[in-house]
Amino acid sequence: MATNSYNSAKKQILILIGSIYIGELLIMVAFAVLPKLPEWIETIVDPTILSIFCAPILYLNVFRPTTRRISQLSIAKNQLRTTAAAFETYDAIMITDAEANIIRVNRAFERTTGFKEEEVIGKTSHILKSELHDQAFYTKMMGDLLTKNVWSGEVWDKHKDGSVHPKLVTISAIKNAASKTTQYVSIFTDISDRKKAEKEIHNLAFYDTLTGLPNRRLLRDRLEVALTSSARSHQYGALLFLDLDNFKTLNDSLGHEYGDMLLVEVANRIKFSLREADTVARLGGDEFVILVEKIGTNSERASQRVALLAEKIRTILTEPYQLKESLRHSSPSIGICMFCDQDELVDELLKRADMAMYQAKSSGRNKTCFFDPRMQQLTEKRAALESDLRIALTEGQLRLHYQIQLDQERIPIGAEALVRWIHPQHGMVPPSDFIPVAEESSLIVEIGDWVLDNACRQIAEWRYNEQTRNLVLAVNISAQQFTQPDFVEKITALLKKYSIEASRLKLELTESVVVNDLKSVVAKMNVLRDTLGVTLSLDDFGTGYSSLSYLKQLPLDQIKIDQSFVRDMTTDASDAMMVKNIIDMAHNFGLNVIAEGVETEDQLALLKKNGCKSYQGYLFSKPIPIEQFEIFLTESQLPFRIE
Ligand code: C2E
Ligand code: MG
Ligand code: MG
Repeated sequence: MATNSYNSAKKQILILIGSIYIGELLIMVAFAVLPKLPEWIETIVDPTILSIFCAPILYLNVFRPTTRRISQLSIAKNQLRTTAAAFETYDAIMITDAEANIIRVNRAFERTTGFKEEEVIGKTSHILKSELHDQAFYTKMMGDLLTKNVWSGEVWDKHKDGSVHPKLVTISAIKNAASKTTQYVSIFTDISDRKKAEKEIHNLAFYDTLTGLPNRRLLRDRLEVALTSSARSHQYGALLFLDLDNFKTLNDSLGHEYGDMLLVEVANRIKFSLREADTVARLGGDEFVILVEKIGTNSERASQRVALLAEKIRTILTEPYQLKESLRHSSPSIGICMFCDQDELVDELLKRADMAMYQAKSSGRNKTCFFDPRMQQLTEKRAALESDLRIALTEGQLRLHYQIQLDQERIPIGAEALVRWIHPQHGMVPPSDFIPVAEESSLIVEIGDWVLDNACRQIAEWRYNEQTRNLVLAVNISAQQFTQPDFVEKITALLKKYSIEASRLKLELTESVVVNDLKSVVAKMNVLRDTLGVTLSLDDFGTGYSSLSYLKQLPLDQIKIDQSFVRDMTTDASDAMMVKNIIDMAHNFGLNVIAEGVETEDQLALLKKNGCKSYQGYLFSKPIPIEQFEIFLTESQLPFRIE
């Protein structure tokens, strides 16, 4: 700052000295060119003195104003340069006259709108207008400009290529001295990217990334609105809670990629079955919830409509799924909860629909079930059972009971190990009560491990007794347990741990194992049977799919005829025929057959007649604890085979 004023003073002094010299020069020239000038002037006015007098006049009137003008001009030029640079900013700028005719635009305008300067000059700013705003929007904008001289907000404008983009716009009205608007300056930026990012964030928060369906959060919001609207309109609505049967097994056996493909296809099929106004959300895993609204004011008819819809969805979801090269089957269990008119809570409704879904699952899966208040008690009981079962495992409340298996000479050939739960309050809980609960959670794997370990230890102990050393012990394996990736390793480790012969261990698999990828099931069974030497039996035969095509492919040793056929075979001709057919078919496949649930001598005789050579049932013994089982073996005086 100080240097600047010093420089400027120096400049002024130099100009003053310069003025003296130039003044003197001018006077001398005047004397030379004007010879008629009176001599006295020449004598009295020395050119040097005169020039000293003239110099300030010259300086003040000619040189100083000129230099000032020059410096003002250069300041103005600088300012112009600055303005021009500022005009060419990142933001687009458009200047119009009071009638919206475009006067000037910058390069950012060209980039943002796609229009060149020469294409828009003289045209009105309406060339940027999209159809997305109504007249009221523009009226409000003009109103603000009139009263506040400025308007700021989001505008959807049209690009030259016809696409519509969101912009953040600020318009300022420029007024003259008479307060009349002469120009409008619009400054704007394209915020498409920001909008896209905002949308992505919104999608992440409200939509499921795999299926693109609304997530739990968005469902809750919509349900909240639906409840209010239903209370106002007295129209019924419904929540359908849908869970895929055996999805976990498919996911574990085929891998997550296939699991994901199935979920996406399920989502698409459900969407396809619904009206535009209905919502289908994915809560996570294989759980979907459908919100159906405005289904009438008559309770019965509304329920009927929902039941029909649920049936439609159930049917469409049971159609086969082409997942890459493999054709899969799946089915849903659907729970329905209706709502209308009442002050329901979102969580309560979801809980009820969930309970109804569990009811559908426990009544055999691939079913639809409406919520019934009695269900609530059942569900609470089930939840308590599950938490008690966790404790049972850690507190050692599980036991194994053994049920003898015999051949046609009533010689014991083995036993089936059946798990029992000795509950500290409720006493003995049968497996039919807690195995399904364990299967719903992953507790079945832990229980299964416990059973296998104890069964193998028992086989090891039986080695030292000639009555028991040749017995084969059968262990029930649930589908979830079998599909564990380390199942074969677990069996191998147990055989080694107890140093037992693999052929003394029989695994009873059910047909639900085959729901999974047949190829990998067969491969696993081959390792178990051929490499390790474990015996494989198919339990409850006749109650599931019982398809000949897979039966042919499975490396089995035995088929176990389900007790439901055995029970009625002496009284019901079709059951008798069924039993005979199963036995014949098994023999054709080179498999041996065991009948379970043999209670009478008549049943035993008929089974023998039909060629079944192994039996298990109350006729011989109920499942009993090991001590009783061993006493039974010695005291029942059953013959035993010594090999
Ligand atoms: P399951 O494997 O079919 O077992 C045979 C069931 O029939 C047993 O019921 C047995 O007590 C019963 N039973 C045997 N003989 C007769 C008879 O003559 N008449 C009648 N009415 N019933 C007879 P339990 O012990 O209640 O087991 C039921 C089911 O629980 C088993 O059916 C099996 O699926 C499952 N289970 C039992 N233990 C285990 C286990 O350790 N692991 C797994 N995954 N499931 C098990
Ligand atoms: Mg069994
Ligand atoms: Mg069975």
